[in-house]
Amino acid sequence: MNMSETLGRWRATIIDGGSLSLDGGAMFGSVPRVVWERCIEPDSEHRIPMKTRLLLLEDSQSDRVVLIDAGVGDKEDPAFRDRFAIQLPEGTGEAPLRRAIRSVGVDPQRVTDLILTHLHFDHVGGATQLDREGQSTALFPDATHWVQQANWDTGLSPNARERASYLRQNIEPLAAAPLEKIDGNGEILPGISVERVDGHTLGMQTVRIEGGGRVMRYLADLAPTWHHLRAAWTMGYDICAITVVEEKQRMLEAALEEQALLVLEHDPVHAVTSLEERNGKIVARKP
Ligand SMILES: [Zn+2]
Repeated sequence: MNMSETLGRWRATIIDGGSLSLDGGAMFGSVPRVVWERCIEPDSEHRIPMKTRLLLLEDSQSDRVVLIDAGVGDKEDPAFRDRFAIQLPEGTGEAPLRRAIRSVGVDPQRVTDLILTHLHFDHVGGATQLDREGQSTALFPDATHWVQQANWDTGLSPNARERASYLRQNIEPLAAAPLEKIDGNGEILPGISVERVDGHTLGMQTVRIEGGGRVMRYLADLAPTWHHLRAAWTMGYDICAITVVEEKQRMLEAALEEQALLVLEHDPVHAVTSLEERNGKIVARKP
């Protein structure tokens, strides 16, 4: 099911960008397995299924069409796809991200802006494709690509801990496309702002869309699933768990206050939720 919401001038549509599976223990950090396996059931290889859910924003006042994140893409070899049980959007004949956009009735040619929350392969891989010579090239060579400067720098020279997540063929070709490197927080398009967070990786950005008195937040890996909306539930992948906890607490307080719709990029089932206060604690509503 594709969900659409209107926020003032923006029509926001959630897109199924495919799926992958990641190690459940790595996804739930210090949460004991007896607890997390009741939340999301692991497969025989201890992996949990996850979506790569994207957000498309169409401006009713201009030709602008903004896409947030790009999924895994199809450049990697079969061994890589097996390891992560990657499933791409249905269809053939064009890049999986184009198929995903078309599946909600939008011509992918219309994309003018691509906001990349960060350059980990499951967020940016779909933004490039292999050409006939096997070279990786930008899928939207004329679109403006928005990324935090700090994350761009990290992606091009990753540390040993994160090297497996930052793949050169996903990042370098984007330098040939229009590239806006952002430094910190701010409104980048009318009603669309980004907020830099550093606990998951250096220079990730979450996206906040405001219009018509409503707010939607795209949380990326600050809270990849519904279960991660508990501030203390961080991931083994996060480079600094304490920073994530602080950043998430700040986000949860703001999102409760503004009754924001929260888009969950990786949750296997739930696309959107919101928050409520129960017994003095901020909790996510059961979708
Ligand atoms: Zn990530």
